[in-house]
Amino acid sequence: MISSTDAPMIGLGMPRVPGARDRLKDNPVVGQKRVLLAAPRGYCAGVDRAVIAVEKALERYGAPVYVRKQIVHNIHVVTELEKLGAVFVDEVDEVPTGAHIVFSAHGVSPMVVAAAAERGLRAIDATCPLVTKVHREAVRFARDNTQILLIGHTGHEEVEGTAGEAPEHVTIVNSPDDVATLEVADPEKVVWLSQTTLSVDETMETVRRLRERFPKLQDPPSDDICYATQNRQVAIKKVAAEADVVIVVGSANSSNSVRLVEVALEYGAKAAYRVDYASEVRQEWLDGVATVGVTSGASVPEELVEELLEALAGAGYRDVTEVKTAEEDLMFSLPKELRRDLSGARDERALGGRMTRRPEIRGAPSA
Ligand code: SF4
Repeated sequence: MISSTDAPMIGLGMPRVPGARDRLKDNPVVGQKRVLLAAPRGYCAGVDRAVIAVEKALERYGAPVYVRKQIVHNIHVVTELEKLGAVFVDEVDEVPTGAHIVFSAHGVSPMVVAAAAERGLRAIDATCPLVTKVHREAVRFARDNTQILLIGHTGHEEVEGTAGEAPEHVTIVNSPDDVATLEVADPEKVVWLSQTTLSVDETMETVRRLRERFPKLQDPPSDDICYATQNRQVAIKKVAAEADVVIVVGSANSSNSVRLVEVALEYGAKAAYRVDYASEVRQEWLDGVATVGVTSGASVPEELVEELLEALAGAGYRDVTEVKTAEEDLMFSLPKELRRDLSGARDERALGGRMTRRPEIRGAPSA
């Protein structure tokens, strides 16, 4: 049973599914019903910063503030920011000249930055600093004429942004199976980089195969798969080993959330599902289930997890134990454009962090 969590609260409106607690039936099972709640889960430092950047931009400049692509891959976050006056667009040519535009946490290619400047847009770059680090690595290796094997998913915004830094030098490697057919110009000059939100295990398998084919393959200077992705995967591995079913809160286009479902299945969960909202949990998922594992992706506000716990409590899963495998206290300062325009603002959020309020998890004590 737990009463606190390290996950930060989001300042957005509460998602409410009326009667969440009563929707699922409390059917009998063999053994005691319980929830294992993975920690860390939910918001990472890059997502927190990006969402605050949009909120602060709306406060400072007034609505509308345009955002290129989803600021983070979570439908609830996007919907709530739209209510505050954010307008999400696919490309900068949809934005009126002179308007403010926020680049999402996933990053953008230099072409997008140039297109925004040409249009006279006032850009606020909310790219996660850990994505920017990978961009810089790509630029550096390309300058050295090294071919970059970028492990990641074709079409993902982050991969497009990173590849856009050095399109002539980047080859995207989607999976271990891609390796056999890869062609490189000079096997002596190759390096691998990766998207920040991949499965650690699958990426290591891809690298193993790459090295088999290209023994001179260079490693990135530091881990590209970010701390938040890694920590959430480590935590769900531990939970999955004891869970009959794992429920991951996160959106379908959230790479790290989808990876959590895969990792849970790989590490012992008998079944694993992803939901945006607690209302999507189906009664039959809980048939005969004693232990439910719960986690959430790095772009998921804690309220959505609370709502799931509330629904599970209604189905008899009131004993909630947090399984914590790491502490997280990383915080990024706001994008420099906002810091400049907010200078003089002294509140904690202006520095890029949430207020220190801790959410209360409604896991009722076990009987
Ligand atoms: S998942 Fe990692 S790389 Fe992506 S925004 Fe969060 S901290 Fe940054």
